[in-house]
Amino acid sequence: MDARRVGGRIAAARRALAAGGSLPVPVLRITNGLAMISLVLSSCDLLRLCSDRSRPLRFPLGGREFATVLCQLASVVYLLSLFGVPSRSGHPKAPASDDEGGGSPRRARAAADAPAAMHAGVEGGDEEIVAAVVSGALPSHHLESRLGDCRRAARLRREALRQVTGRGVEGLPFDGMDYQAILGQCCEMPVGYVQVPVGVAGPLLLDGRQYHVPMATTEGCLVASVNRGCRAIAASGGAVSVLLRDAMSRAPVVKLPSAKRAAELKSFVEAAANFETLASVFNRSSRFGRLQGIRCALAGRNLYIRFTCSSGDAMGMNMVSKGVENVLGYLQNDFPDMDLISLSGNYCSDKKPTAVNWIEGRGKSVVCEATIKGGVVQSVLKTTVQKLVELNIIKNLAGSAVAGALGGFNAHASNIVTALFIATGQDPAQNVESSQCITMLEAVNDGDDLHISVTMPSIEVGTIGGGTCLASQASCLNLLGVRGPNRDSPGANAKLLATIVAGSVLAGELSLLAALAAGQLVRSHMKYNRSSKDVASAAS
Ligand code: ADP
Repeated sequence: MDARRVGGRIAAARRALAAGGSLPVPVLRITNGLAMISLVLSSCDLLRLCSDRSRPLRFPLGGREFATVLCQLASVVYLLSLFGVPSRSGHPKAPASDDEGGGSPRRARAAADAPAAMHAGVEGGDEEIVAAVVSGALPSHHLESRLGDCRRAARLRREALRQVTGRGVEGLPFDGMDYQAILGQCCEMPVGYVQVPVGVAGPLLLDGRQYHVPMATTEGCLVASVNRGCRAIAASGGAVSVLLRDAMSRAPVVKLPSAKRAAELKSFVEAAANFETLASVFNRSSRFGRLQGIRCALAGRNLYIRFTCSSGDAMGMNMVSKGVENVLGYLQNDFPDMDLISLSGNYCSDKKPTAVNWIEGRGKSVVCEATIKGGVVQSVLKTTVQKLVELNIIKNLAGSAVAGALGGFNAHASNIVTALFIATGQDPAQNVESSQCITMLEAVNDGDDLHISVTMPSIEVGTIGGGTCLASQASCLNLLGVRGPNRDSPGANAKLLATIVAGSVLAGELSLLAALAAGQLVRSHMKYNRSSKDVASAAS
C-alpha cells in the first residue's frame, strides 16, 4: 500500500470524523502535536542510527529500527494528509441559547441550526458525501449543518437511503418542499414529503360567515359527506358556535419526601393568595402565555401540577412548558426537597385519551349548534328528524356507553378533525383529545325540526408555530382567513379556527348520521371509496 493511498485513507477517516462532529477541535490539536513530536523524534533516531557505524542499518530491520521507521512513516503520512483536510477554523459556532429572541425552544433550535452557522465544511462531491453517509462515517442527521444547504442535504440523504436499502423512493416527491423551512421546526432528516389530497367542503355557514373548509384525507366520501352537511346547515340558516374556554395545559410531576409534604405543596400552589405571584413568574417567558389556573392531583408522595394558560394564536405546548419551568424554579426556593421527576407527568394530558381533558378541557373548548329544518332533513339528508334522533341516542350515546367510551360520544368527529389538522398544519397526533365530542340531537318545534349540537372540550389548534409555517398548510389557513398571528387581537385566529373545526364536525356528524339512518352508507362508500378503478390499480 503506497504512502499516498494510506494518507488518503487517513485523510478520509479524519474528514469523516470531523464531519461527523465526533473529533472535536482540541483532540485534533493533540493528534497534530503528537504527529509532529513523533516525526521529530523518529527523524533524530533515524539520523543517529544511520550515523552509528558500530550498528549499521541492515534488512531485515531489528525491533527498534523497525519501530522508528514505522513512526516516521506514520507521522509523515498523517502530516501529509493534513493538506487534504478542510480547515476546522470554520467549525460551527456553539448553538445559540434557547432564550435567544425570547422565542420557543423549537425556534431557538432552528436558529442554532441556521445556515449562518453551517460552515463546518464537508468538502467533496455528492458521491463522496453519500459514500460517507452510507458507510456511517458521516451521520445522516449532520448533513444539514455540515453542508449549509438543506435541500442538498435532503437530496444526498435520499440517495444514501437508496443505496443502503437498495430500494428507490421515486414515488416520494422531492421538489416542491422548502427544506429550509422545516429545519429545526417540523421534521428531521427529511428525504421528501407525502402527498395527501386536499378537498374543500362548504361553504360552511358559521356565525354569519362562510368558510370553505380544506380537508386533507385519503378517505373517499369524507369531503362529500361534510359538504352535504354544510349544505343542510346553510339551507337552515347556519350554525352558531361558542368558545367556552381557551387553556392549554402542562402538568409536571414532582416527588416530595412524604405524601404530607406533597399535600403541603398542593395547598401552596392552589392557594388563591399565591396565584398572582405564581402567575407573574409563569408569564415572564412569553407575551402571549398567561397563566389561568393550577390544579393538582396526588399519587402517594408524587404531585401532579396541572398548569393551564392561554397562548394567543399558538397551540401553546412550548409556551406552557416554558412558563411551567419558570414556576418550578421559583417553587424550588420554598420547597428545596421537591424533586422534579418529569416536566410532563401525563396529567396534562397530551395525545392520550383521558378523562381529565374530557372533563376539564384542553386547548379550546367549543360548543356548536344548528337547527335543521324538517324540510331540509327530508330533501338534503334524505331521512327524518325522528330517525336521526333515535339513531343518535342508540348509537352515539348508548352505544358509546356500552363501549366504555371516553369522550367518544359521536359518529366520526376524528375524521373531520384529522383532515382539517393535516390541511392546516396542526399536530395530527393531538386529534386524540381534539376529537373528543358529544353529539346531541333533539326534535324541536313540535318535532318538525332537528336541533343538533357538538360539544368539544379539547380542540388544540394554533395558527402560528409548528407546521402552520409551511407553504401549503399556510395556504389552507389563508383560505379560512386565519393565517398567522392576529395582530389586532392576539388569539382571535386560533379561536376562530377552533370554531371552524367544531362547525365542520357538526356538518360531518349530521351527514354521516343521516347516511346511516337512510341506509346509504355502504352504497355511497361503494361509489366514492371503493371504485372499480381503485380495486384494479391496487391489484396490479
Ligand atoms: P407553541 O407554543 O404552540 O408550540 P411556538 O412557541 O412554536 O408555539 O410558536 C409561538 C411563537 O410565536 C412564540 O415565540 C410567540 O412569541 C410567537 N407569536 C407571535 N405572535 C403570536 C400570537 N399572536 N400568538 C401566539 N404566539 C405568537
